Amino acid sequence: THFGEQTVAMADKQGLVDKVFHDVADRYDLMNDLMSGGVHRLWKGAMVNELAPPKTGSRPYRVLDMAGGTGDIAERIVNASVGYAEVVVSDINADMLRVGAERAKSWRYPAQASFVEANAEELPFDDNSFDAYTIAFGIRNVPRVQKALNEAHRVLKRGGRILVLEFSQVDVPGFDAIYRLYSDRVIPPMGKVVTGDAQPYQYFVESIRKFPNPQAFSGMLTSAGFKRVKHTSLTGNIATLFSGWKI
Ligand code: SAM
Repeated sequence: THFGEQTVAMADKQGLVDKVFHDVADRYDLMNDLMSGGVHRLWKGAMVNELAPPKTGSRPYRVLDMAGGTGDIAERIVNASVGYAEVVVSDINADMLRVGAERAKSWRYPAQASFVEANAEELPFDDNSFDAYTIAFGIRNVPRVQKALNEAHRVLKRGGRILVLEFSQVDVPGFDAIYRLYSDRVIPPMGKVVTGDAQPYQYFVESIRKFPNPQAFSGMLTSAGFKRVKHTSLTGNIATLFSGWKI
């Protein structure tokens, strides 16, 4: 059946994604800097700025950084809150989490993070248990995006916020051709030089092209139950920051 085929394709996708991040875990942060020319740092900064985590309060401020990989976003959130926020870094890939947990030992506030292996589609967390859910460059890798967004909504408290940072299609005339050339001719060979394999980066480029456009993705956030959904495009549309609230 059509449904059956689709299910198999989904399982294949997660398997491929897991292999990609298993293979690159140790050099993941270096690759990010090389491929984006360091610009991913600005985008992540923009996400954390938008979140503006509190620096004090009468109760804990709990954040779930899903597909948190090596803990990049989590560290920024904790620092922005001057050590107040508690961040659960969650990822399906134990290798990425291992690198993250090791790095967290030298954070300014190492006690503020914990690491939990989990699939974004089926979270091992209680309903209404987080103040914020962040996912940076992760949702594109999840086979069933709507399922993951529904889960995000479930685990957030009322008044909680979701922020999604993701690559988007560049459609700015002139810049789109340059970006396409860069994606096809520069990124996979660069990946091969640093990690010994171009295939993961071929996957990376294709996954960006297949991801829903900002309007369609905003619709999925709304379907999950989020309100006041909005998006902001970053750096000529290379990346988009989405925001929604559980009210
Ligand atoms: N958030 C980090 C950052 O911005 O640097 C890491 C992003 S990395 C491009 C994507 C991450 O998504 C990988 O660590 C991968 O293991 C994770 N991932 C893929 N599928 C997932 C799933 N179904 N559930 C949770 N994490 C997943």
